Amino acid sequence: MNTPALIDPYGRAIRYLRVSVTDRCDLRCVYCMSEDMTFLPKADLLSLEELDRLCSAFVAEGVKKLRITGGEPLVRKNVVSLFQSLGRHLETGALEELTLTTNGNHLAASAEDLKKAGVRRINISLDTLDPARFRKITRWGDLARVMDGIRAAQAAGMKIKINTVALRGVNDDEFDQLVAWCGKEGFDLVFIETMPLGDIDGDRTAQYLPLSMVRAGLEQRWTLQPISDVTGGPARYTRCSETGGRVGFITPMTHNFCEACNRVRLTCTGTLYMCLGQDDAADLRAPLRASANDALVTAAIREAIGRKPKGHDFVIDRRHNRPAVHRHMSVTGG
Ligand code: SAM
Ligand code: SF4
Repeated sequence: MNTPALIDPYGRAIRYLRVSVTDRCDLRCVYCMSEDMTFLPKADLLSLEELDRLCSAFVAEGVKKLRITGGEPLVRKNVVSLFQSLGRHLETGALEELTLTTNGNHLAASAEDLKKAGVRRINISLDTLDPARFRKITRWGDLARVMDGIRAAQAAGMKIKINTVALRGVNDDEFDQLVAWCGKEGFDLVFIETMPLGDIDGDRTAQYLPLSMVRAGLEQRWTLQPISDVTGGPARYTRCSETGGRVGFITPMTHNFCEACNRVRLTCTGTLYMCLGQDDAADLRAPLRASANDALVTAAIREAIGRKPKGHDFVIDRRHNRPAVHRHMSVTGG
């Protein structure tokens, strides 16, 4: 088969692009943002047409999976039209998967349209099933709204994956319940470790909970059989014998997940980050705007992939309580 590929210096084929379509969000999860965030001026954002053009240039270079994220992707005005236009690459077979990560707050209104545009799987972030706790973690979120969004995605026939950030002393007494709930509903569940990205108001050292401990705790109650399901993402999966559901773990801190990295990340201003945990980046906005033809932007993409680093150097700096990377996750896109 003659599929083009972007190959990095370590021989990894780049098949997966995550695109942050906005750095804004309608929630303020404590591990992700400070309460008082300064967002980019709207004028700095690429238009949806420009985002489509950039994504399409990556697809032409062999990217098979696009994940739209943010900030909260569904707060970007008209974002469903971006899914609708990108859906054409699914129809030609050039793209295998178009998906998104969302907090679920605006999902009830758009689930049906997203499904029609070609979104078959969706990641919804949910750290607790308790309304009061949800409000505390997100600073002002309403769990009932998110549940409505989840029901709408279910009704639209999308496959749902729940992302849960494991937070010491915050939701660590709820993991069994989340496994049971996801198993009952037929959702995949993926636990994530907190990563030291961007300044937040609290202390990350206090929140950090290694997933090795989470897993050991879960195994007291559940039988988790390792499986080799590959979803193209960084999670390692197990099958929970009791529920039949998949339970995954993303362990950027305790297990170096870089060897098989097939991903790069594009921000809403057209900056390409070759690694979530490194500062090196390439500007794609200038070559995009310099010409209506894609030759310049394609050359810039290839040059950037030629600089993809081997891996990240995340360390939670316990002495100084400062982030390893100053960009928030909401800028680069989770
Ligand atoms: N707003 C959407 C959401 O919450 O799903 C999409 C963007 S959010 C940045 C993507 C994912 O990153 C979420 O699952 C969130 O829990 C996770 N996340 C945010 N900050 C993080 C951090 N510092 N460490 C680990 N995961 C983080
Ligand atoms: Fe918003 Fe998602 Fe960050 Fe929460 S994790 S503040 S929902 S971008």
